[in-house]
Amino acid sequence: MYHQIVPEPQGVYDRNPDDFRAELERLAREDYVPVTAAEYSTGVMDLPAGTHPVVLTFDDSTDSQLRVGVDGEPADDCAVGILRDVAARHEGFRPVATFFVNGDPFPATGGRKALAWLHENGFEIGNHTLNHAKLSALPAAGVQREIAANQKAIADDAPGARVLSMGLPFGIQPDPARLALAGSHAGVSYRHRGAYLVGANPAPSPYAASFDPVGIPRIRSAGPDAEDAELGSSRWLDKLADGTVRRYTSDGDPERISFPEGGRGEVAGEHRERPGRTRACVGGGLSPAPPLPETGAEAPDPFSRGLRPRTPAPQAPARLEGAAPAPQAPARLEGAAPAPQAPPATSPRLRPGVPPRRYPQAGLI
Ligand SMILES: [Zn+2]
Repeated sequence: MYHQIVPEPQGVYDRNPDDFRAELERLAREDYVPVTAAEYSTGVMDLPAGTHPVVLTFDDSTDSQLRVGVDGEPADDCAVGILRDVAARHEGFRPVATFFVNGDPFPATGGRKALAWLHENGFEIGNHTLNHAKLSALPAAGVQREIAANQKAIADDAPGARVLSMGLPFGIQPDPARLALAGSHAGVSYRHRGAYLVGANPAPSPYAASFDPVGIPRIRSAGPDAEDAELGSSRWLDKLADGTVRRYTSDGDPERISFPEGGRGEVAGEHRERPGRTRACVGGGLSPAPPLPETGAEAPDPFSRGLRPRTPAPQAPARLEGAAPAPQAPARLEGAAPAPQAPPATSPRLRPGVPPRRYPQAGLI
């Protein structure tokens, strides 16, 4: 979770451009691949074996995140410019992120130009309410007005963009919390696949029983010595890297959910009993981690769902747009052909009859 990327950070939610770049470099080095919040919450993550999905989110639609010049390109020193530069230097590191925007977003560029640019370049636009509202202080009608009015503004600026994710201002849920996911006002309806909190730990797999779309945790970007560093990204990445905390790792097969022996109880009920779709690993537990560079020595990961060699970043949004929101993630699994696929060359442990693994912890920042 990022807010401002500025040379002089004003608080724990800001990072300077060098630290931001260093964190992205670390993610790339440690085989993380960015996915959007919508890709995460719908379970449509299609990544090479051995990589780990990470959702990069930006709140408040500030100029330090995106400034688009007269040439139509983002400034080199804004967050999008830095992310695109890092992605260009690291093959497979997708230049995608989710921007939770308010009314009048990215004022230096202008909402119409900025949101259109984001949408056209594969970034996700999420809802952060029209006025950065404290939703718990509003009646149900007010909550829906704040969200629906902002969705309309987004749709006006970026025609065709589907708003599937909601960043809760201050991390505060409305009452009832489900109003963050669905509602309507003045003829505008919204339906989100996930509402995101502010703190403070990795999010579970979207197929885990513990996944709750009403309140998905995020991790604040923070250095190892920052205030409350234990809740920040550097410390969490350390724990995810050394195996202290399990992380979601792709096995390269997008067609099925699988899990290690004994892990069935961690799979959400609707995905638990799917003959031919969701199966326990055989042969005494997890297969070894795929022998990819820099990943072979990692601790076993408990769950994974399949992934396939990555398509270039700009193609992912198109795929997402083509998917119906709610029923599709499960349906995609149910409709998948389990066994006959040839295993990807990068994932020798995938073979007919041996289900891929699935990991419940996704490192969310
Ligand atoms: Zn905010």
